[in-house]
Amino acid sequence: MHRKFAAIIVAMIMIGVLSSCSSNSNSGSTDTSGKIKVMVSINPLKEFVEAIGKDKVEVQMIVPEGMEPHDFEPRAKDIEAIGNAKVFVYNGLGMENWVDRVLGSIDNRKLIVVDSSKGVSLIKASGDEDHDAFDPHIWLSLKEAKVQAGNIKDALIKADGANRDFYESNYNAFASQLDSLYNEYREKFDKVTNKKFVTGHAAFAYLCRDFGLEQNSVENVFAEGEPSAKKLKELVEYAKNNNVKTIFSESMASPKVSETLAREIGAKVEKIYTIESREDGKDYLESMRYNLEKIYNSLK
Ligand SMILES: [Zn+2]
Repeated sequence: MHRKFAAIIVAMIMIGVLSSCSSNSNSGSTDTSGKIKVMVSINPLKEFVEAIGKDKVEVQMIVPEGMEPHDFEPRAKDIEAIGNAKVFVYNGLGMENWVDRVLGSIDNRKLIVVDSSKGVSLIKASGDEDHDAFDPHIWLSLKEAKVQAGNIKDALIKADGANRDFYESNYNAFASQLDSLYNEYREKFDKVTNKKFVTGHAAFAYLCRDFGLEQNSVENVFAEGEPSAKKLKELVEYAKNNNVKTIFSESMASPKVSETLAREIGAKVEKIYTIESREDGKDYLESMRYNLEKIYNSLK
């Protein structure tokens, strides 16, 4: 499903290149205000860095807002910015297939590189996506987001040891927000017997593991971009057998097919956030709460 966005992305990259010619940034790993320059690949990482670094960091995101990140290729100015940063945080697990190439091409030996997936308990990829061997959507687990935030905290301390206590205490505050949201919904999901939901982009395996749920995805109905009638039929059967009344849809993945399926089985379509990009002005915790509440309501 991601390939159909490639043409749009190429067009947007062209626009990005044209409009970036004047942005010759200052070099050095802190900006003029003394803040630590942190480059991140995708939106959830930006939020985690800001939650822990607060006013001591200046965060720049490489994949622009609203862009499908799976097929993204960094532009020359992104590579230059990573070269001038003090810390670079990426998701890992193939979410950014350009990382090795880009890091190999820049000369910044002091750069602190953070693979945020280090220490995460991984789930194998479903096979239908052109990702690497493991599912990269780790930030959609409140448990694993805490691990990612911990890796970021360690990197900020490494970059700026004088403020260790500041980063530790911000991390602890953020981690306890993650924990309390988890505990609230663990209790709720434990009380429902129906554990299955259907969504567009199979991004929620880690969220499912957190709460003992099971996702099935509209995206898997496709083979090489063409909807497979056999798989669509299977999904209709699945939805009927499991009393699925809601089909979740992400703005970046197959809303048309989600709508078709919903009509087929008399279900409604609800929005869900992959948080790969920031949407509707909601931050990470607000988006996670929204997702959990909508899924919970669909199972009641
Ligand atoms: Zn994804």
